Amino acid sequence: ADVNAEEETYIIATDATFAPFEYENEDGEYVGIDVDILTAIAEDQGFEFELRPMNFSAGLQALESNQVDGMIAAMSITPEREEAFDFSEPYFDAGPVMAVREDNEEINSYEDLEGKTVAVKVGTIGAELASELQETYTFEINQFEDSSGMYEDVLANHSDAVIEDYPVMAYAIQQDLPLRLPTEPEEGDSYGFAVNKGLNPELIEKFNAGLVNIRENGTYDNIIETYLGENV
Ligand code: GLN
Repeated sequence: ADVNAEEETYIIATDATFAPFEYENEDGEYVGIDVDILTAIAEDQGFEFELRPMNFSAGLQALESNQVDGMIAAMSITPEREEAFDFSEPYFDAGPVMAVREDNEEINSYEDLEGKTVAVKVGTIGAELASELQETYTFEINQFEDSSGMYEDVLANHSDAVIEDYPVMAYAIQQDLPLRLPTEPEEGDSYGFAVNKGLNPELIEKFNAGLVNIRENGTYDNIIETYLGENV
């Protein structure tokens, strides 16, 4: 009998567009740091998976309601999420940063958000940061389901600033998105691969074991270098 035929194919949620972590290339294939890391780990550990790209908040819901087995979406490991999900070991360190239009000379600190409008993505730690800042400064929040919606709103001068993960924002700016980063990124956050609490524990074990292996054999560094260059 073909043992592999009976093996489970894990269904994995990912963000629809979050370059350089997950995005569709010109050939219509999903690529990026997350996709390549999971592919390398699956190969190393001998499991199959199918990606389900969707909006980040939809991914969180899909994971919580068991419509998917796991999620890899540049997803920050937070205490609140750890109550609902089980996370792998951290595989990438990154936190949110504020961005404004390149020609915006007015906003140079969180303080300057007073009276302004900030674009955030539903369910993200960037949205959480904006809510925290609102306790100190008075500004409006515009919510978006996807990152490109936020960027366009700032470019159109509807929102004055956007809060987005630093490597994603830096990558978009490098690809000529006319935004600038007036402040330093927030520190102390890391991305993890997640499963629903108590479910698919073997998948977390395999992810962690594979992560150690691809770090040791250089695959991890190659993937990061492919998307972020050498000076990370
Ligand atoms: N890292 C952020 C979070 O987990 C954003 C993730 C995303 O937008 N895909 O909230």
